[in-house]
Amino acid sequence: MRLVLVGPPGAGKGTQAQFLAAHYSIPHISTGDIFRANLKAGTELGIQAKGFMDRGELVPDSVTNDMVRDRLTHEDVANGFILDGFPRNVAQAEVLRAILADKRTPLHAVLEFSLADEEIIARLLQRAEIENREDDKEEVIKRRLEVYAEQTAPIISFYRNEGLLVSVSAVGNIEDITAHAISALSRVAQ
Ligand code: AMP
Repeated sequence: MRLVLVGPPGAGKGTQAQFLAAHYSIPHISTGDIFRANLKAGTELGIQAKGFMDRGELVPDSVTNDMVRDRLTHEDVANGFILDGFPRNVAQAEVLRAILADKRTPLHAVLEFSLADEEIIARLLQRAEIENREDDKEEVIKRRLEVYAEQTAPIISFYRNEGLLVSVSAVGNIEDITAHAISALSRVAQ
């Protein structure tokens, strides 16, 4: 299963990605996690990404696309993958399509987690208390939501046009959302 997850910050993509990765026995690839790991390790990539992440902006495509291109050469993606947090704009979606077309391994589906705006802010503020993430401060959250609406949301129509979009509600308990996702995906891919 080659799958992309899309949804606003706070929709629970990361949590769902972990359950879905276990269910399908495929790796969970989170670009946010890769950036955070690099930040922590003080690598060149981490240094390049830090300022953008702290402001809630997207890290430039040149940096992000190369990172994902490299990650998709690892052996563990042979049976598929779940991409969480990539693509974040239409240009990245086009790059991903080209990378996968080269390998003759197109996506099976793009799973959208939908959530109302009011619910998003409440969840992100709650996460800020638990995880202590630098980018979960209120003004940064606001910017990340704007970036999502302006740059990331257009990929939903992009994937709808490609016939890949599957939507599930991100509201409810975690196990139910996972079950809905698996059942929706079973109708379009295996
Ligand atoms: P996330 O953990 O997915 O919310 O990502 C945290 C931050 O990492 C984002 O706010 C961006 O600054 C950066 N980031 C993650 N994925 C991408 C991406 N695909 N393109 C650009 N920046 C990204």
